[in-house]
Amino acid sequence: MGDHAMMPEWPRYDDEEAKALLEVLNSGKWGSTSGDTVATFEREFAAYQQAGHAICLANGTLAIAVALRAAGVGIGDEVIVPPYTFIATASAALFVGAVPVFADVDPDTHLLDPAAAEAAITERTKAIVVVHLAGRPADLDAFTALGERHGLTIVEDAAQAHGAAYKGRPVGAIGDLGTFSFQSSKNITAGEGGVVLTDSAELAGAVYSLVNVGRVPGGGWYQHESVGYNLRLTEFQAAVLRVQLRRHPELQALRERNARHLTDALSTVEGVHLAPEDPAITAHGRHLFMLRIPNHRDAVLKSLTASGFDKASPGYVPLHRNTAVLQEATAITNRLGQPYPHPPCPNADTLSQETLWLPQPYLLATPTQTQSLATAITNALPR
Ligand SMILES: *Cc1c(COP(=O)(O)O)cnc(C)c1O
Repeated sequence: MGDHAMMPEWPRYDDEEAKALLEVLNSGKWGSTSGDTVATFEREFAAYQQAGHAICLANGTLAIAVALRAAGVGIGDEVIVPPYTFIATASAALFVGAVPVFADVDPDTHLLDPAAAEAAITERTKAIVVVHLAGRPADLDAFTALGERHGLTIVEDAAQAHGAAYKGRPVGAIGDLGTFSFQSSKNITAGEGGVVLTDSAELAGAVYSLVNVGRVPGGGWYQHESVGYNLRLTEFQAAVLRVQLRRHPELQALRERNARHLTDALSTVEGVHLAPEDPAITAHGRHLFMLRIPNHRDAVLKSLTASGFDKASPGYVPLHRNTAVLQEATAITNRLGQPYPHPPCPNADTLSQETLWLPQPYLLATPTQTQSLATAITNALPR
C-alpha cells in the first residue's frame, strides 16, 4: 500500500482551537445567555455568506425544521424535497407536522430538478427545500422564480455548502432562508451545531424565538411571546467554530485544487460520469466528490476499499423508498384525509445504484495521493 493508506483525517485543528476553548472555560460564561461568542460567530458567519442575519442552533436537522416553522409551515402543509439527500431534509418537514413530497433529481447533477419540483406543486404546497448537495449550488434562479410565481417559501439546505456561491453570491440567503450544519463530517465543524441564515428581519426574529424559548431579541427573561424550543449552541462550540471559519478559505482552496485534479484525471475515462461544469456555480462547497459509474460502481468501490481508500462510499438510499419517512408522512395525510402525492423518482433510483462518493477529507490530500486515488478508480474499471 502506498502513502494513500494514510489519507487525511478530519477534523483539522491545532492550538488555536485549544486556546479558544480555554478562554471560554476560564471566562465562566459557557452559555450564550451570558457570553458573546455565539453572537460574534453569528456576525462573522453571516458576513462570510453575505446574509443579513444568522441564528445559531443545535444542529442542521433542527435548522431546517425551525426555518420551515418560522416561515409558517405547519400541520398538513406540503414541502417539496429531493429524495437523494440526507434524511434530515425530509424529516424536518415531519417534525413540524408537514408532509414531505418527493420530486425527482437531475441525473447529471444529483440536485432537485426545478421542473419536477414545479410538477409536484399542489394547493397544499407551502415550501420547497432545495439541497446544495455535495456543495454544488442548486439552480437558485429557477427556484426563487418558482417561489415567487407560486407564493412558496424557498429554504436552502446548505449543510454541505459552506462557502459555496451561485452567480457570485454565497448561498444561504438567496432563498428565503438557508440552513447549515457544523456536525463532525462537515467542512466547518464543532462536533455538532447548525445555523439559519436569512435576509428578512421578520424571519430572523421568528427563528430567534424558536431557538430561545419564545423570547424576543432585547426582551425580558420570562417574556415568552411565542412557544419556542431551547436549541441554543454553547459558547464552547462557537469558540471552535470561529477558528474553523478562519481556517476555511485555505482548506477550501486545497479542496478545490484536488477536485480539479480528480476532474482532469477522470473526465475522459470511459464509464465515469462527472457533473457538468456550470458557469453559474462560482464557488463549489466541495463536501463530496461524486462520480457516476453505471454498471461497475460496486466493483470500483470494492477495489478502492481493498487498496486502502476505505472512506469511499456508495452514498444515499433514496428517501422516497424509506419506510419510516413514508409511514410518518401517510400517518399525517390519513389523519387529515389528504392524499399523499408520490411522484415517481426514477433518476434518484438510478443514481443510488451508480453513484460513488469520495468524502471531503480526501480532497485535503497531497497531489501524489490524489493522483493515486484517480489511478485506483481508473484501474478498477474493466478494460
Ligand atoms: C448533515 C446534513 C443535514 C443535517 O445536519 P445535522 O447537523 O447532522 O443535523 C441536513 N441536510 C444535509 C444535506 C446534510 O448533509
